[in-house]
Amino acid sequence: MRRKLAAGNWKMNGTSAALAELETLAKAAPPAETDVLICPPATLISRASHVAENSHIQIGGQDCHAANSGAHTGDVAADMLHDAGASHVILGHSERREDHGETNEVVRTKAATAWEAGLITVICVGETLSEREAENTLDIIGGQLAGSIPDAATGENLVVAYEPVWAIGTGKVPTLSQIGDVHDFVRMRLERRFGEGIGRTVPILYGGSVKPSNAVEIFSVSNVDGALVGGASLKAADFQGIIDALA
Ligand code: PGA
Repeated sequence: MRRKLAAGNWKMNGTSAALAELETLAKAAPPAETDVLICPPATLISRASHVAENSHIQIGGQDCHAANSGAHTGDVAADMLHDAGASHVILGHSERREDHGETNEVVRTKAATAWEAGLITVICVGETLSEREAENTLDIIGGQLAGSIPDAATGENLVVAYEPVWAIGTGKVPTLSQIGDVHDFVRMRLERRFGEGIGRTVPILYGGSVKPSNAVEIFSVSNVDGALVGGASLKAADFQGIIDALA
């Protein structure tokens, strides 16, 4: 049985005051068979871990460097995230791929480093609007999966998030059949590469304009095991609505 995961990505949002939202989430009853993850900015990870201690909420980073230490001004290492209390790290988000030119190869190196540090990686894939319009979606996703995930994936260290770039922060959501087609394809590729045991265990999240109002129908799609949520993870009431829809 695959576990479900509701993951919140705060992106570059949140100062100390945002910890009150996390406190509210941490006080709610733990959902059945569902993991809950909040990825605050790096500056808040240590304090967020403290707030979430002894609750069902797990804390993650939004990125890490490919190396584990050294002369990399401004970067954060996987070991440091783990030490600050993180259990997960998001890698290869389309905003990182675009803002920082992260290639599949960079994402793969970061994932290997994160696994060595004991983190679970949430590896993001997704097509742009022009790639979808050119009917290249599955080729793009297939290439990103092959290139961004190291060979040492297990059922425990990997989560895949499908996030169409054109659906992120836009309020636009693919149809349920478009979501289902990509999630089935990701599942097939994971099983083919890693074997059925591992391939069936890895949760596949959908991300892109998930809200409490559309979460139930998105979670009804086969092979959708949860969501990676940006905007609607910033307020506890919205994110709790999404958690409740999943559990
Ligand atoms: P959004 O972002 O929910 O604001 O569309 C999703 C994401 O980028 O992870």
